[in-house]
Amino acid sequence: MSLVQIARTNPQAPFVPLHSLDALWFQVGGTVCNLWCTHCFISCSPKNHTFDFMSRSQVRKYLDASAQYGVKEFYFTGGEPFMNRDMLDILADTLEFGPASVLSNGILISPRVAKRLHEIAGASLYSLELRISLDGFTAFTNDVIRGEGSFRKALAGVKNLVAEGFLPIITCMQSWEDAENAMVLADFTKMLHGIDYSRPRLKIIPPLRIGREEARYRGYTEAEFIAPEMLEGYDERQLLCTSSRMATDRGVYVCPILIEKPDAKLGDSLEESFVPYALRHQACYSCYLAGAICSNFAPARDEQ
Ligand code: SF4
Ligand code: SF4
Repeated sequence: MSLVQIARTNPQAPFVPLHSLDALWFQVGGTVCNLWCTHCFISCSPKNHTFDFMSRSQVRKYLDASAQYGVKEFYFTGGEPFMNRDMLDILADTLEFGPASVLSNGILISPRVAKRLHEIAGASLYSLELRISLDGFTAFTNDVIRGEGSFRKALAGVKNLVAEGFLPIITCMQSWEDAENAMVLADFTKMLHGIDYSRPRLKIIPPLRIGREEARYRGYTEAEFIAPEMLEGYDERQLLCTSSRMATDRGVYVCPILIEKPDAKLGDSLEESFVPYALRHQACYSCYLAGAICSNFAPARDEQ
């Protein structure tokens, strides 16, 4: 979508400021992934190099700069972060600055990688969280979206993490009706107990109807956008873009969701990105409804 088309789509889009830089995200895996999920909202794949891996020195530059802005936590995503050969060193660097979370599909988390993650976490005062994506509690429901064999491989990664003392957050895109939530969460929990994950944590996220998800199921309707009056009385701090930014190999973007939108690039440095942003994209509507859908716990539905 061109900037002209965006302006036509939602010319009255309200702006939100960056209240504080609480979290810094890294597109450390670029748009390169070992899976080709049919719902991927930034269309990642083994061949998508629209964004490439971030180097250790690129990440370090942002970490050094983040200290002066009081960043409290760091998130790593992609693509698949563990396809980046520097990932373990990058995490060791990051844990000098604050807590870190990695969003992964789990497939490359071998016993060796899990052990190294345990060592890296153990050497830091800060916590290391792993979020593993699954799209169903059976191979049938997961693999139709994430690819054949991906359920078995992701669960192996979860098991390896659990064996090293981690409590990975299992993340799943909601593809069922709200009324079925309790049943789905119960089945997820039962499945995870079956692989000796006795205290599973689950996070259900709403679909983002962009990228491949737009073709898989549906895009946004014309009624799904943010009008200025919708922010009256609304706590805009729920939106990730009011408290975080996304660093990539080609500059700083407003959030992890919109990196493919040309207007979402805000500058080449953190400082340049400290500008208000107009919520003109329809994906903003999903954030509006659900809150900080990318963060670890809100609106997570944790099950112990
Ligand atoms: S949804 Fe995640 S695991 Fe699937 S293709 Fe996209 S980045 Fe890769
Ligand atoms: S997609 Fe969400 S986080 Fe990104 S700019 Fe829109 S409201 Fe903010």
